[in-house]
Parts: sequence; structure tokens; C-alpha cells
Amino acid sequence: MFITRFAPSPTGPLHLGHAYSAILAYDRAQAEGGTFLLRIDDLDQTRCRPEWEVQIFDDLAWLWLGWPLPVLRQSTRLPRYRAALKSLWNQGLIYQCSCSRADIRAATSAPQEGAPLLGPDGVIYPGTCRPATPPQGPMPEECALRLDMARACRMLSSPLIYKEKDEIITPHDLPHTVGDVVLARREMGASYHLSVVVDDADQGITHVIRGEDLQEATQIHVLLQRLLGLPTPAYHHHALIRDAAGRRLAKRDDARAIATYRVDGASPSDIRALLGL
Ligand code: GLU
Repeated sequence: MFITRFAPSPTGPLHLGHAYSAILAYDRAQAEGGTFLLRIDDLDQTRCRPEWEVQIFDDLAWLWLGWPLPVLRQSTRLPRYRAALKSLWNQGLIYQCSCSRADIRAATSAPQEGAPLLGPDGVIYPGTCRPATPPQGPMPEECALRLDMARACRMLSSPLIYKEKDEIITPHDLPHTVGDVVLARREMGASYHLSVVVDDADQGITHVIRGEDLQEATQIHVLLQRLLGLPTPAYHHHALIRDAAGRRLAKRDDARAIATYRVDGASPSDIRALLGL
């Protein structure tokens, strides 16, 4: 069985890099006789816009990609994410954090601390709000919740592993290289890491194909899958499409937007040729 997905956030136009990811996943699903799903990662409602979502559907259909309906939208899934958070809370693995970014900067930039350590989500949390023992009582609502990474890693009965292309990867030392990641924010009931893990499992995703900018986050996802009793898909992180100066493409880079190529008269085969596909 082969089920993969393309999960864009409707925060700007799709550019060549998105097209590369989507076409790779679609072609692989076709070759394997599997399924290609489209999922809309619209959890951050402050940045997502309906017009970008319309453009995503339109651009992907223009590229001759197809997917089954209905399309899953993360904004409809908050109760499911909260249930997953409750499971982690009941295991004593998450805690409430009231630190602002400025608090974290201040705590990690004290002269005796040396240079702040960076993980996949930026500065590694210094642990200011981490309780010595698991918090008791019901899980608090509308607050930031962090994973107690050291406690979570101590709970594992066997090493974490996952498959990246044909290699077996064993993430290690997550408390020091990743730290206590945010799983819910005050203004957003679940973080990217939590929602992507729950959605991939609920959609039966067997293969995740996405850009190598997310490679470092994968160890967090594999850990969450283990803690939540969810299966781990196989991963393939592809190289990023870069501009002539070697910079990775960003959503604001309108020159590389698929919509711009369309207006300029390019065909879907021209886009595939540009991407070396
Ligand atoms: N929504 C994420 C993005 O646009 C991708 C999520 C994923 O593939 O795991 O970067």
C-alpha cells in the first residue's frame, strides 16, 4: 500500500518548489499504484487566506495533478489535536509554558550561557517553566504547552528509528539537540508538529515526500508517533529548488510563482522540464 500527500499552507502563491514537491509525490503514487492526497495546512488562521487556497487547487489542477475528495483541512481538526494533547498530558509529558520569545531570548543570552543552542524550531528552550514532576489535574486550555523532551525520551523502551529513502535513521540526544518543543500555542490550539503527526496517521499516510527544510523536524514527528501509539511512515526529503543566487524559494518570491508562469504562457510540461522532471 502506498499513500502520500502534499500539504501546503495557503499563506501565499505556490512556487516552483511547491510544484516540485507535489509532482514528485504525485508521480511516485502513480508509479506505485497508490494514492496522492492533498491536505490544506491552514491551522495558522492569522496567515492563511481563502484566496490562496483557491489558487492552490487551481495551480495543482493546471499541473494535471488529481486527488480524492474531500480534502482534509487542518482548521476543522482542532478537537482531534486536543485529544492527542490530552493523551500526552495524561502521560505527564507536556507542561504549560508562559514564556514569551523575549523571556527565552533573555534566559539564553545571559553571558554565562554562551551562544544560544539552536534546534529545528530555533533557540532550544532553556526549561524555565518545566516542572520537576509531571503536572496534575486537567489539561489547561488556551495556553502554550511544551513537550518535556527528556522525560519523553526516558519513556522509550527501544530506540527511535525511521526510514529515510533507503537508509535507517536513529535520532538521538533529542533533549540537547531539539529541546522542549511547543505542541500548542495560546492563540493556536496545536502546533505544526502535533497536527502533521495526527493527520498523517489519520489519513493512513505510508510515505511522506517533502522538502529537506523539514528533515530536522522529522525526528520530532517520529517521537510523537511513538508517544501517541501511531505508525511511522517512510520519509523522503527532497532537495530544495533554489534561485539563480542559490537561495531557497519563498512564498514572497512571486517571480517563481506558478501563477506567474501561467500568465507568461508556460505549459505544465514546461514546468516539469524546468524542474528536471
Ligand atoms: N505545510 C508545510 C509547508 O507548507 C508542509 C508540511 C509537511 O509536508 O509536513 O511547509
